[in-house]
Amino acid sequence: MACSSGTCQSGCYKEEYSVNDENKTQKLVKANCEGSNGVSARGGVANGHGLCIKCKVNETIAATHPDVTGRGGGDSLRFCTDCFRSNLFGKFKFAVTSNGMITPSDNVLVAFSGGTSSRVALQFVHEMQFRAQKNFDASRDRSLPVFGVGVAYIDESTVLSNDSDRAIDEMNLIVSSLAPPAKHFHVVPTENIYSVDSTARRDRLSELLNAVSDTTGKEDLLVQLRMLALQKIALENGYTKLVLGTCTSRIACHVLEATVKGQGFSLAADIQYVDARWETPVVLPLRDCLTEELKMLCSLDSLKSVEAFQQPRSGINGLISSFVNILREENPSRESTIVRTAGKLTPFCFNRIPEVGNDNSHLASQRRQKKYNLKPNESLPPKSFCLVCNSPLKKPDDTNLDEFYNGKTSAQIYMVACSSCQYQILPKEPSSLEFFYSRLPQSMTALAKDNLNNQKLLRNQIQDCLLSDSDDGT
Ligand SMILES: [Zn+2]
Ligand SMILES: [Zn+2]
Repeated sequence: MACSSGTCQSGCYKEEYSVNDENKTQKLVKANCEGSNGVSARGGVANGHGLCIKCKVNETIAATHPDVTGRGGGDSLRFCTDCFRSNLFGKFKFAVTSNGMITPSDNVLVAFSGGTSSRVALQFVHEMQFRAQKNFDASRDRSLPVFGVGVAYIDESTVLSNDSDRAIDEMNLIVSSLAPPAKHFHVVPTENIYSVDSTARRDRLSELLNAVSDTTGKEDLLVQLRMLALQKIALENGYTKLVLGTCTSRIACHVLEATVKGQGFSLAADIQYVDARWETPVVLPLRDCLTEELKMLCSLDSLKSVEAFQQPRSGINGLISSFVNILREENPSRESTIVRTAGKLTPFCFNRIPEVGNDNSHLASQRRQKKYNLKPNESLPPKSFCLVCNSPLKKPDDTNLDEFYNGKTSAQIYMVACSSCQYQILPKEPSSLEFFYSRLPQSMTALAKDNLNNQKLLRNQIQDCLLSDSDDGT
């Protein structure tokens, strides 16, 4: 049932895992509810003893762990614990190797929020590092170095006014238990994105967020600031990749959110395995894993997560989260369907690990990309990115051209923001907009200046070719 086509984006390379199977699992779940205990296997092949359909030896999770049954999108009825675990790790490993996400010379930073997804990402990265270390110790020539791993938590207590001390202690325990090899744990408050003293930082951050009146806009801005904070840690500590625990379910929500917010043009940029528009490339090795699977792994392996301070999502994002939850309950494969559908959009050129010199690991990743038919994108990099959300912008909007040449700051800010941020985040009134701009961290405004200069150049070039009013016959 595995999808043998090299272009399949769903990661269903494993013989026993295929998204399409979920429909059948649904029927299995129903059959089970009706009282027939010895669940049948896929495709109508009877499996009267509750045995794992992969190894056909061990009992299924549903039989051995009745307490976690119902999670994992029906996997508990098909697999034993070992096969389920190796399937999930297999999906992670495949995403990592086929996209060249982690190479021996890398130093990766795992973003850890305390939630289930990032907990699994951390666990899997650790297991990969642990295996690499064992191979290194066993090899005679010790030619392949072992990649380094660090962990980062962005403390948002200034923004969300909660007390995160206990959560941080718990996370510290989790990180220190994942050794050897030892991992450095960075706990950094969001306001670290400013390079002023610590009280001024907090004030600036509060003022910035208070300037945004829309609930959804505020939440989206906070996500952006979190990324800036992570990027700063990576840059200051020599990390070469940033690993996020973003899973299929989260991406499915993002697809619908972006659709509602009118971010169709830039959507393809956000949902790929690799996002290298940031200084430290961001990678999503759990892109093919469902949140229910990750939750089930955490239950089975007693992986502790720290959910105490996980905020419920609000505004449009909150509505879509509950909508996707309903879809999932009705049919667990819906989330994968949404992501696969959006996966048809053409990615941007920065959605792959950038080429660095004549690195062997890069050649290896190129070979793998060829093997799995992941076409490198030949399109040109976008001219500019949104000041706020860093999404690629379509060609500059000409309506503000006159104001641009008059040098109005508010008009200039609008020009370097995407239409979604213009509507959802930027204050409408010019003076509040300028205040908002003045409270943005330098790392954002510096980029905006570059963008503006690029656009100015482009406009000058266009201007030279334009017909004057009298020439165009109107
Ligand atoms: Zn098995
Ligand atoms: Zn934007």
